[in-house]
Parts: sequence; structure tokens; C-alpha cells
Amino acid sequence: MSNKKTTQKDWRPATLAIHGRGRKPKAHHAVSTPIVQTSNYYFDNCAEVWNFMKLKGEGKVVREHEYGRYGNPTQQECERKLAAIEGADRAILFSTGMSAVILTIMAYMKPEGHIIFTSDCYRQTRDFATNMLDKFGVEVSIVDPTAQAIEDAIRTNTNIIFTESPTNPYLRTLDLTSIVKVAKKHGVMTMIDSTLATPYNLKPLEMGVDIVIHSATKYLGGHNDLLAGVALGRHELLNDLNRMQRMIGATPGPLSCFLLERGLKTFALRMEHHNRAGQAVAEMLEAHPKIEKVWYPGLKSHPDHAIATAQMKGFASVITFLVKGNDAETRRFIDSLELFLITPSLGGSESLVTQMATMSFFDYPEDYRHAIGMVDNLVRIALGLEDIEDLIADLKQALDRI
Ligand SMILES: *Cc1c(COP(=O)(O)O)cnc(C)c1O
Repeated sequence: MSNKKTTQKDWRPATLAIHGRGRKPKAHHAVSTPIVQTSNYYFDNCAEVWNFMKLKGEGKVVREHEYGRYGNPTQQECERKLAAIEGADRAILFSTGMSAVILTIMAYMKPEGHIIFTSDCYRQTRDFATNMLDKFGVEVSIVDPTAQAIEDAIRTNTNIIFTESPTNPYLRTLDLTSIVKVAKKHGVMTMIDSTLATPYNLKPLEMGVDIVIHSATKYLGGHNDLLAGVALGRHELLNDLNRMQRMIGATPGPLSCFLLERGLKTFALRMEHHNRAGQAVAEMLEAHPKIEKVWYPGLKSHPDHAIATAQMKGFASVITFLVKGNDAETRRFIDSLELFLITPSLGGSESLVTQMATMSFFDYPEDYRHAIGMVDNLVRIALGLEDIEDLIADLKQALDRI
């Protein structure tokens, strides 16, 4: 297939997730991208090596692959599609979401610099911020997820604002326009972990954020069967990150990339379902007598409902709530669910459930756990792709057991 001229500017997410921006010739004329299971790629003769190295030194690429740590063909195809969906110049795919988060921070942090993180962020990101960055002489502040709190925390040496939206588990939704305004005023770079939003529901780059990161393990892969992460942004800006990845090699394997590319083909369809299921189940829970409180950005009762509605297309399928009951009753509710598997993670075909206090924060002292809101009756569900009526019926029968 040739590089035909297309109407690609008008293409919507469902099309971009399948074709990327424009068509590319496909290897062996195969419709799906083959898994190239190799660690290295050979040259025909010494002159070809010499020519390749010389041109590479001049910044020209005459062939795409030389060694597996620098990438593989299926990875490249996924990156092309992910960049198209996000509206980015470039995507760099990693072996996990956390390697994308940590390596992106490491590629842009500065000695004696200062990084602002918004609170209520992913557990491992929080741990990296509080227990690792000091080893590199980097100062850290963790602040409320508001533009005002971020501006108040800015110091002369601040060079990165790292945000996450919506947050986990309370689904706080950050006012990105205001945060970007503050960052630009102070000349600080912005990064967002947008895993829970996905590029279907939120476009941080269009709002001026510099780098967007996703755990592709979640909605992008979508089937609870792979680990991957991705960072997206302007081509030039990502050069440092690309160098970092080539050195460290947190490169996804060809099979994970194949599964991710396959998952992307139904990305838009799945997100439509997740958005509908999330809203319907959140509304059912909020009206239920055995529920004390529900957090879901699509509910009017959520503190960030107005911001979420203004900047997002939908709110996906993670819902956090307090059941009316003690630890034992909360466990009885969870154990009575037939469709929900007890495990962390989100964004796949199977619905998942966790009691936050035990699953993600069991090793924190009880006082601290409660101080950060991880009380015993706090439950998080991540809806899968099952029938919405079946999910609602299952939740109702389990709530009746409290
Ligand atoms: C899961 C997750 C991560 C980590 O991703 P992995 O692929 O598990 O490494 C980071 N951020 C958020 C918001 C996540 O949900």
C-alpha cells in the first residue's frame, strides 16, 4: 500500500486507533503487524554498517531497526497509532507505565532542582517522589491538586510540575488550563499521568501540557493481559527521553506490543462502553441505601464535577465509594460479588474490585492510612466490558448482604 493522500485531519479516535495518521506500507502485506521476535537486526556487508553509522551521526535514519533495546517493528507501529490518538508528534513506548513515569521524570529533572507533585497520585509515583528523588539531590513538594496550591509551592529551582488526572482513588480532576497558565508564567515544564482519563476522554497536549504519560496496561491495552507505558509530546522535547530509554532499555517486548496494537483496534468502542457503564453504575450506587458516599466525576456531587465536565468527554469506569458498614461487612460485600475479581488495576475487559485499605495501603501504619483517607469501608471498582445490567444486578445482590 502506498502512502496515499488521505483526509486524515478529520479522522476520529476510532479510526486513528486502527490506522494511525495515514496509511503505511505493511510488512508482507499482512493486515496485522507481525511479531518480529528477534533481539538484533543484521547488515549485509561492512559498507552498509559504515554508511548506516555515518548517516546516523548526521541525524539521518536509513533503516529503522538495529538492536532490540532501541525498539522493534510492532512497538513502532503502536507508537505511531498512540501518537495519532493523542494528537502528539511522537510517542515513546515503555515496558510498563511506571518505567514511563520514572524515566520521564529522570530525563528532565535537574540537580538541585525542585519537582511539584499533586497529591492523591499513584502509589508508586508517590513512593518514587518521597523515597527516591532525594538520592539525586532533587527536592520534592506534594501539594493539593489545584492551580493555587501549585503556584504557592513554586520555588526558584522548580522545573517540573507532575500531575495526575483524574486521580486515584478519589478521581480528583485537575483544572489543566489554570495549571498550565501557572506553569508557563514561571517557565516550568508540565507532565501528566493521564491513565484514568485516556486520550479518548481528555487531550492534555491541546491544553498546553508538555508531556502526557499513560499506563498502557490499563484502558489502552484494555484486556488485562499486558504491561506497557507510553510518554507523548513534541518531537524535539522527547529527544532526551528517547536517549534515556535507549540507555536503560525499558523497552516493551514484541508480544506485548502486538497485544497492545490489537487492543487499540477496539479502543474507542471500549471507551464508549466504559463511559456509559461508569455513569450508570455510579448513579445506581449513589441512590442505594447501603452506600454512604460515591466519588465519580460524572456525578454532580463530585467536588470537581464542573471541571471534569468542561474538559473531559466522559469519565471512564473507575468508581470509588464508602459502603455503610465496618471492615467485616465491607469484606462480605466484596466476597459476595460474582462478576468482580479482587485485584488492583483497571481498564480491562474484566471488572475488578479492591478494598483500598488492604490492597494498596496494607503496609502503612493505621493512623497514617486513615489520615490519607484509606478507611476500611472504602471500595474501588473498575468496571470491565460485561453487560451493564448484569454488573448492576451483581452489585445490588452483594450490597444486600451487608
Ligand atoms: C497502573 C498505573 C500506573 C503504573 O502502570 P504499570 O503499567 O502498572 O507500571 C501509573 N499510573 C496510574 C494512574 C496507574 O493507574
